[in-house]
Amino acid sequence: MTIRDFIIRTCTDMGISCVGCAAVIRWEQPLFFPWVPESCYPNAIYPEAQTAVVIGLPVHLPVVETAPSIWYREEYKIVNSLLDQYTWRIATVLNDQGYASVSIPRDGYGSITVLQKNPAAFFSHRHAAVLAGLGTFGRNNMVLTRAWGPRVRFGTVLTSARIESDALIESSLCTRCNACVRACPVHALEEEDYPESKTNKKACADRSAALNGEYRSPCGICIKVCPVGADRDLFNRTDIRMYDDTGAWKKYHDAWDHVRSFGSD
Ligand code: SF4
Ligand code: SF4
Repeated sequence: MTIRDFIIRTCTDMGISCVGCAAVIRWEQPLFFPWVPESCYPNAIYPEAQTAVVIGLPVHLPVVETAPSIWYREEYKIVNSLLDQYTWRIATVLNDQGYASVSIPRDGYGSITVLQKNPAAFFSHRHAAVLAGLGTFGRNNMVLTRAWGPRVRFGTVLTSARIESDALIESSLCTRCNACVRACPVHALEEEDYPESKTNKKACADRSAALNGEYRSPCGICIKVCPVGADRDLFNRTDIRMYDDTGAWKKYHDAWDHVRSFGSD
């Protein structure tokens, strides 16, 4: 069994269906500009790294639809915690096989106050996911996947094992519908493709901080309205007019209002 097959099997046994590999040399061949700083490249952080193994876990659409809410806040924490646990376990299993490996923490910041001052982390899981062939950037500044659109969070293992890279997704999955741009309550997004669009990360972080003070961060609105993702078929939510039209979709709006009226300020 190749090391690649071993990783896929390990992930499958953990219930992880979204996994991809990217040779670290891919960071040296930018897909677009501006690119991530060299100090954030995998082998600048962990010089022994040969490959980034990236996994993705979904955030369930009906939960995101209640955002901002305590339900989405808890789901977000669960997924982050699972990503940290799964990537740590994958790194440990690889270490046991003789391939020196480390996991990168999911969020990597101490508090939203820190993000307000510097809205970045020491490693970008989003760029790693794109380089591992798991998705493409959307106008909402998120990575869109075929399975879940932007309703997915990523975690990364850096390993000394040399593993064949997955193919990149060549065509953008973003439909340029601008639903995310229109829905953003603080107008942080632009009608431009990533990375030309200048997302106002400060405005987004400020909103997140305000919601956090009310125990209902993260915001999630630009994630829930995105029409991309097979999860929309699964949950029978292919018509995104449901988020604006309270008449035809009243039972959904009632459910969201109910959830939002508990557990947070
Ligand atoms: S998370 Fe909220 S504030 Fe930030 S860009 Fe998306 S919709 Fe706007
Ligand atoms: S909502 Fe539309 S424009 Fe925004 S990321 Fe999704 S597909 Fe792209």
